[in-house]
Amino acid sequence: MSSNPFLPFPEVVDVLPIVIPLPGSDLITLNIYAVGRGPITLIDTGLKIPGALEYIRQRLQSAGFDLEDIERIIVTHGHQDHFGLAVAMRQASGRQIPCFIHEDDRWRVASENYREGAWTPEMERFLAMADMPPSEIEKVKDRFVFLRELCDPLDDVSIMRDGDVFTGDGYHLTVIHTPGHTTGNCCLYESRRSILFSGDHIIKHITPNPLMEIKRTHLRDPDYRSLKTYLLSLEKLRGVKARLVFPGHGEYIEDLSGIMDGYVVHHRERMDLIWKALRRESRPLYRLIGDVFPFVPEGDAFLAVSELLVHLEILLEEGRVELADPGPPVLFRAL
Ligand SMILES: [Zn+2]
Repeated sequence: MSSNPFLPFPEVVDVLPIVIPLPGSDLITLNIYAVGRGPITLIDTGLKIPGALEYIRQRLQSAGFDLEDIERIIVTHGHQDHFGLAVAMRQASGRQIPCFIHEDDRWRVASENYREGAWTPEMERFLAMADMPPSEIEKVKDRFVFLRELCDPLDDVSIMRDGDVFTGDGYHLTVIHTPGHTTGNCCLYESRRSILFSGDHIIKHITPNPLMEIKRTHLRDPDYRSLKTYLLSLEKLRGVKARLVFPGHGEYIEDLSGIMDGYVVHHRERMDLIWKALRRESRPLYRLIGDVFPFVPEGDAFLAVSELLVHLEILLEEGRVELADPGPPVLFRAL
C-alpha cells in the first residue's frame, strides 16, 4: 500500500494509514486506518472538516478501494474527531455501514448528547466552582459549540466489548477495552502484523489526557476516576506484544512499554507539582493553572482544569490533599 504524504508511516501489508493534517492544532493530524484486502474495516473516521471526506476517498482509491468497500467502522471512542464523519460516510457510500463502539461511550455519540451541544449546566456550575472567570467560561462554551459543528451525531451503532474479534481477509483485530481517556475507550490489536491501534490512549508527541467526567449520570461506575482508570488501562497493555503502535494522532510508535513508562512518571510528577503548589497556598482548581502549566494556549483552559482535577482526584484519595472550603469557589489544601 502507498505511504501517506504528510507523516511517514512504515509500509505494512493490508494496513493503510490515512493521515489528515490539522494545521494549528497540537494534535498535528487525525489518523484513520483502513485494514484488510477488501472489504475493509475502517478504524475511526476523522472530523467533519471541509475536504476530509474527499481526501479519505482519494487515499482509499490510491490503494484500490472506495467508500463502498468499507464493511464496518470501528470507533475507538466517542470524541468528535474519531466518529465525526461516520454519518457522512454512510451517506456517501449509500450504505448503512455498521459502526461499532464500546457501550460505555454510546451516549457520547448520540443525538441526545448533542442536543445541548455537549455543553451542560453541570459543566458551567463546575467551572464556576473551580473559580474560572465568566468570560473564560464563555470561551469554553464557544469552543464546545464550534466542535459540535464538526460532527454528525451517531444514533444507530453496534456495540463492541472487550475481547471481541473482528476478522476479514488480511486482518484479525481484537478489542481491548482501555478506559481512562473516555470510559468506553478501546484499543485494537492486529495479531498478524503485531500492530496496536491505540486511538487516544497512546500518543507519541503529547501525553494523552484522561478527561474529567462532569456529567456522571451516564457512568456505569459512580466512583469512576479518569486518571486512576487510565493508569490501570496502561498496565493492561503490558502483556501486548506490539511491534508498532498506530495512534489516533501524530507519528507511529515503536517502543510501547517505553512510552507507557514515561506516562507513569509524567503523571506522578504532575501530582507532586500540584501538591507543592497547594502547599504554598490553598486555592481553587483554576488558580493552579499558572503554577502547573507554564503555557496554556487560548481556549485550552478547560483542558488544563480537566488535567488538574483528574490528578487532584488521586491526591484526595491518597490523603495528600483535602477540601479546605466547599465554596464557591471550592478550595483545596495540601496535607
Ligand atoms: Zn479523544
